[in-house]
Amino acid sequence: MKVAITNIGQIVTGSWREPFTSGDTIIIDKERIASVGTAPVDAVSKADVVIDADGMTAIPGLIDSHVHITFGDYTPRQRTVGYLESYLHGGTTTAISASEVHVPGRPRDVEGVKALAVAAQRCFADYRPGGMRIIAGSVILEPGLQAADFHELVQKGVRLAKAGFGAVKSSYDYVPLVADAKAAGMITTCHTGGSSIPGSGAITGDHLLKMHPHVSFHINGGPTAMPDADFERVIKESKIALQVCTAGNLRTTLLCARLADANGAFERFIIATDTPTGSGVMPLGMLYTIAHLSSLTDLPPERFICAATGSNAKVYGLDSGSLAPGKAADLVLIDAPDGGTQKTALAAIKHGDIAAIGAVVTAGVPRFVGRSRNTPATTRKARVASSRVTQDFAAAAH
Ligand SMILES: [Zn+2]
Repeated sequence: MKVAITNIGQIVTGSWREPFTSGDTIIIDKERIASVGTAPVDAVSKADVVIDADGMTAIPGLIDSHVHITFGDYTPRQRTVGYLESYLHGGTTTAISASEVHVPGRPRDVEGVKALAVAAQRCFADYRPGGMRIIAGSVILEPGLQAADFHELVQKGVRLAKAGFGAVKSSYDYVPLVADAKAAGMITTCHTGGSSIPGSGAITGDHLLKMHPHVSFHINGGPTAMPDADFERVIKESKIALQVCTAGNLRTTLLCARLADANGAFERFIIATDTPTGSGVMPLGMLYTIAHLSSLTDLPPERFICAATGSNAKVYGLDSGSLAPGKAADLVLIDAPDGGTQKTALAAIKHGDIAAIGAVVTAGVPRFVGRSRNTPATTRKARVASSRVTQDFAAAAH
């Protein structure tokens, strides 16, 4: 399917160093973006679906790099079905597993954690709930896992490894496990802050610096934060990605953003939700954290959209998160919410309001055009201007 999006007011690229590109049209060919900015008239007339953005802002689909998936579109923690489809209506087009720790009765032995990671990776390889892309299969680091186990997992398609929920005696026992997982080519992640499992102990700056995982999960606290002094140490003394999460400490989220900017480490600053958890199912979590950071720091809103898109994609090696030719066709139209005081999406976000969503496209397929189930209505009205496919692009009944 070819899709053309016309009459775009502003295009946010997903790359924080060059957050804007000029033009008003995006052309999509199958699952990829063909062009961004201007397009010849026949590229629009040849499209199977033409979406008129009515002057809205186009951004890459949001990438939530901390989602507690299990199997299917179901979270046992909050006993909720359909939550991933609901997140898509909040602009999230990719959900990255924070490891499958919420699977009821999850195994804790070496063979069990390996099998769980492989099963999760396989179950989401071709399954997109509501259009959401799921990067699943994150092995939970447990004592006893050997270098050969990580090589086997990588060969079977598992790319992620997570420290923080294993039966280790001390968090320093993760150091050799993280090293072996990295050596096998995995992306390693580590719980940060107070323990969320009784008896497992807090993970603070010193643990992170000794482990040096690729990503500090919820560095702002999940939900309890590590000491303030540790933020500067981790930023200055490591290359660890700094993931801030909605379901965490807001004060340290802001602290981390300011320190990352002041120390030239903003490319490592990434946004996620850490949901569903005890904090709930939060379909608009990414939008809220972007609005909180934009309105409570001096940094511009497009920076935080990029931290929620292109920066996540870079850390995790994804082909999405960027509005550029050749990238995955995952994108969102956002706007100032109806009834607010601001005129554009970015002004509204800076003001502290969440953006309203007018359309979501994933894998080159419009998942809905018009009204999101979850955000306020948009000020402008995106619509399907022409269509040759038999599909109703309206969102399901509210
Ligand atoms: Zn988590």
